[in-house]
Amino acid sequence: MPTTSIKRRVFLQGLAATNCLAAFSWPLAGFAAAEMLNVQKLTDRISVITGAGGNVVVYHGNQGLTLVDCGLSEHTTALLKLVDEISSKAPITTLFNTHWHEDHSGGNEAIHKRGTRIIAHENTRLWLGADFDVEWRNWSHKPRPKEALPDQTFYVSGKHDVGGEIVEYLHFPQAHTDGDIALFFPDSNVLVAGGLLANGKYPVSDIATGGWIGGLIPANAAILAKINDNTQIVPDRGPARKKADLKAQHDMLADLFEKMKTRTREGANDHDMLKEKLTADYDARFGNPEEFVMETYRGMWAHTYDMGGYI
Ligand SMILES: [Zn+2]
Repeated sequence: MPTTSIKRRVFLQGLAATNCLAAFSWPLAGFAAAEMLNVQKLTDRISVITGAGGNVVVYHGNQGLTLVDCGLSEHTTALLKLVDEISSKAPITTLFNTHWHEDHSGGNEAIHKRGTRIIAHENTRLWLGADFDVEWRNWSHKPRPKEALPDQTFYVSGKHDVGGEIVEYLHFPQAHTDGDIALFFPDSNVLVAGGLLANGKYPVSDIATGGWIGGLIPANAAILAKINDNTQIVPDRGPARKKADLKAQHDMLADLFEKMKTRTREGANDHDMLKEKLTADYDARFGNPEEFVMETYRGMWAHTYDMGGYI
């Protein structure tokens, strides 16, 4: 478990914001173009805001709003202004963090000050309060102030009344991080995937804070078993996706995991696999594989025990 004294390497996913315009999104008058936030309305109760870092989901409940994630801190002022605008200043009663990464938790302090309760997995709270280095990027994560830390944490999956339906939060250990949750709104048929579904790119597990491909694959499989073809899935960033998109990611991961295990047993390393274009079948859909292959390879070595003591 992380503490404030440990120093660990960590991978942070790229923080460059993606601004995706979807069919149902609209630019908001009165906002500077640089802020680039957009709202996609998924149902009468649920909207997703893109462009603030990671996606932000707003659930319009009977007694107030529930947010899932809150973007990067540099977008918090614009984000809250936008949330107030689309909700007629309804109170934000609850904020869920899907995981600790700053593009999903950057607004915690500011939203907490509004009296909002923050809920997350216990491991997410621990990472938010921890001190560790990002050595290969020459960057350090400093413990976030106590205002950024969740007030309510859990260890296993559960349910929560958001004032309109009962949301299920589903914990998947050791997937994108070790504190990931997805949130399923059954009546709305919307699933918020957090870091468990990347948007048009290879998903990268953060091995330094407990993620790896061997956990991400079953996490994707469990979500696939829960949803149907009409479910709207909110990915890490960008507009909502469908079950077929998650299945494409899952099947790609399962195939490449087997291929990478085979090549590793044959003595190849990550650079060899990139050079021989192991991912060639998928690059057109998922883009540059470099970060994915390197982090996956490191994650496999960190989990030799989970793979039977050998790779
Ligand atoms: Zn993340």
